[in-house]
Amino acid sequence: MDRTRELIENAKKQIELWKYSNCKITDEYRNFMLKLASGICPFCGSELLVINYETTPQEDCYKYACGHSLSKLTLSDTVNIQESVGMKLKRKGFGMLKRTFSGFKSSGDSKFTKGVNVEMTIDREHNEYHQVITDINTGEVTHEEHETLTEHSKK
Ligand SMILES: [Zn+2]
Repeated sequence: MDRTRELIENAKKQIELWKYSNCKITDEYRNFMLKLASGICPFCGSELLVINYETTPQEDCYKYACGHSLSKLTLSDTVNIQESVGMKLKRKGFGMLKRTFSGFKSSGDSKFTKGVNVEMTIDREHNEYHQVITDINTGEVTHEEHETLTEHSKK
């Protein structure tokens, strides 16, 4: 399958999933996926064209013609998390700057019958860490963490 199409189809699927599950997604991440779904690079707005695709046990990496890239975390990295999509923003010479993860997780807690949605952002550039866990059944936020990355790493 054409990788560009595949990426667009996956983004559309993810957006559908959000509608269905009623879970809270950050505006930033929603916009990111909406841009992907409409076939443009979320970083610069150029027409989306995947020129290279690499897969490793940790992630799938799509490289676009405009020079940006998207990494999708594969299942081995996200144990128990279904239908997950992650994004990482890398800048040459800086390594990983930002990593956002959004996905469903079947919870061990029987309270959460439909599982939970996990929204996680690790932002090295702005030293931020955010984690929001939502009960998919009720849409209620069950756990929330907002702190500096330095603070979070000490734990
Ligand atoms: Zn771009």
